[in-house]
Amino acid sequence: MTAAVNDGAIAVIGSVAFDTLETPAGRADDELGGSAVHFAVAASFFTKVQLVAPIGDDFPAEALRYLESRGIDCSGLERRAGRTFRWHGRYHEDMNRRDTLHLDLGVFGGFQPRVTDAIRRAPFVFLGNIDPTLQGGVLDQFASPTLVGLDTMNHWIDEARAPLEALLPRVDLLVINDEEARQLSRETNVARAARRILGLGAKSVLVKRGEYGAILFSPGSVFAVPAFPLEEVFDPTGAGDTFAGGLLGHLAASGDLATPNVRRAIVYGSVLASFVVEDFGGRRMRTLERDAIEQRYRQFVALTEF
Ligand code: AMP
Repeated sequence: MTAAVNDGAIAVIGSVAFDTLETPAGRADDELGGSAVHFAVAASFFTKVQLVAPIGDDFPAEALRYLESRGIDCSGLERRAGRTFRWHGRYHEDMNRRDTLHLDLGVFGGFQPRVTDAIRRAPFVFLGNIDPTLQGGVLDQFASPTLVGLDTMNHWIDEARAPLEALLPRVDLLVINDEEARQLSRETNVARAARRILGLGAKSVLVKRGEYGAILFSPGSVFAVPAFPLEEVFDPTGAGDTFAGGLLGHLAASGDLATPNVRRAIVYGSVLASFVVEDFGGRRMRTLERDAIEQRYRQFVALTEF
């Protein structure tokens, strides 16, 4: 990742969802979520974001107003007849583990993303967690992005390994959790897993390890950050996408893809993720202010200085 960037915009494709969330701390119904929403809200603290996703005819004006109030360009949201995507997840006592209880694709069924001219030129593209075939179809429509990030999940590694692997050589930053890294690489050791994934063509791999932090593997370099030590975690939903949004948001806003700044971006990603888990869904992001982000960023630096 060495190219210079001259425009701050990030295009994100992923799910826009209503989530039912059960964690050891309680339950919340119909929370605005989805991979693209969590990513876009986090990145919007830093730069302009363009959201590409289907929404149903049940998608409320209030949710749209909220996204627009964050400066998110919603012109790529395609309203279709039917229900907005819904996901119901339940976390174990160990909140690094969760089960999908129910998933309703709704308007994702038969969705063919079309990227408009205004979005096609975005220098940063984030392919949020959806069907890898859709991710590839979207990527094909971009002019020549400077940086492509990609997230995926166990479901797609199982069900769509071939299209997912075909995408990896086009990806600058793969963002996955440790379990997914093991599954994708068929290696149990995380460092070996990352090396194998780099061998599949991804230029760098960020392995998220929940409350243990994250590690960036690139050819010839490894960088690790802890997670911010919170005493109370309410709901980890969206932490991964929020991490990616903070990371790419900082990179895009600064236009600096050199290694020291990529490392700072990873710390921003950790900071954003540490906020989103403080309440259900994306609630905490509605009250978060830039000052609090900077303050926690400084705490992070102090935490890791020796
Ligand atoms: P994260 O906790 O970062 O993995 O993101 C959770 C978000 O991903 C939730 O808001 C869900 O709505 C969304 N999600 C869960 N499963 C899927 C799926 N199969 N495809 C697309 N989005 C999903």
